[in-house]
Amino acid sequence: MAIIVQKFGGTSIADAEKIRRAAQRTTNAVKNGFQVVVVASARGKQTDQLIADAMELDPNPSVREMDQLLSTGEIQTVSLFAMALQAMGYDAISFTGGQIRLITDSVHTKARILSIDADRIHKELDKGKIVLVAGFQGIDEHENITTLGRGGSDTTAVAIAAAVGARQCEIYTDVDGIYTTDPRIFKKAAKMKHISYDEMLELASLGAGVMHTRAVEFGKKYDVKIHVRSSSRQTQGTIITHEVPQMENVVVTGATVQKNMAKISLVGVDNKPGNAARVFAHLAQAKVVVNDIMQTEISREKANLSFTVGSADLPAANEAVGQIKDSLNCQSLFIRDDIAEVSVVGVGMRTHYGVADKMFTALAKAQINIDSITTSEIRISCVVDKSQADKALQAVSVAFELDKPPETRNE
Ligand code: ASP
Ligand code: MG
Repeated sequence: MAIIVQKFGGTSIADAEKIRRAAQRTTNAVKNGFQVVVVASARGKQTDQLIADAMELDPNPSVREMDQLLSTGEIQTVSLFAMALQAMGYDAISFTGGQIRLITDSVHTKARILSIDADRIHKELDKGKIVLVAGFQGIDEHENITTLGRGGSDTTAVAIAAAVGARQCEIYTDVDGIYTTDPRIFKKAAKMKHISYDEMLELASLGAGVMHTRAVEFGKKYDVKIHVRSSSRQTQGTIITHEVPQMENVVVTGATVQKNMAKISLVGVDNKPGNAARVFAHLAQAKVVVNDIMQTEISREKANLSFTVGSADLPAANEAVGQIKDSLNCQSLFIRDDIAEVSVVGVGMRTHYGVADKMFTALAKAQINIDSITTSEIRISCVVDKSQADKALQAVSVAFELDKPPETRNE
């Protein structure tokens, strides 16, 4: 029998009525002949509430106790969900992450999954039960409860789908799919039928925010199709899958903007081996997550080194750079905390020319200055003034026809 994994996000199971509605999705899949594993998040804003409760007692709580606490939100949901199913006449059993031996490393609050015991799940499915697993949590080798980072239930779901050999992992959420760009900024953004893992990873890490990045990585690695769809409407959503040849015909699949960004430029540092390594070693020690890095040689003796970070990391980055700048003979520091990064993404860029030209022309026509440019094989990003972020996203969205789903565009 084919297995399907269904994951329900916090808003889709916020109260009894919504849990009942979600449970109906599950029983429909059973009626369609599937064995079903349900993974659920904590209800509504429960995780935020638990964090607030913790902070009230200790502004700097131990991460072990934090995980112990946060894991309870998801446990509540799956037992309630199981009760809803039982009340509807179905056999169901719920588990914590630990009970299905979802083993993680010991990095509390952002643990990574090492292995899952699929046997326990198979055994229950084969008894005709619907199996529910609390998302977002596991245990480490010392039996401590761990959590996977905010939004981590997506990753639980896809990892379980991979472990049990499910045909598909459905992610039920409050949006009805993945859009070409942010519909709040570009109203005519179109929903996509398909998107490749690589494109989704670029879009997710760029702030599209629909899916936990690790979940997409798991899907790619273990070949799990991920269907992101609405929990309240019966429509088809977006399937995240391996690249198919037609995807290459489309040059730009989607665009994003990241707004809370800052940039530090070390102007005129000595052009010597090891200098970049030292800067980034300092930043790593300060636990700063660096976004893009740009270095250019400006003479035989000197180079300019810039990097972007999230605004929240700017103070730490600034301090780290401050400690080291004199030893690099840095002539000056140039810091901006008012920038945004607009990016276009598409696997078709690998084989098409003219993408950069089109993007830069669209920005020029909109009178937007490009501060700096970075690229990957399937992405072009431009740093612009934060005040022009929305206008920039709109301009590139029009240029690349993001009002049409990729499969209907004629490029
Ligand atoms: N409940 C957790 C959170 O709010 C995990 C999740 O929702 O996926 O981040
Ligand atoms: Mg989520």
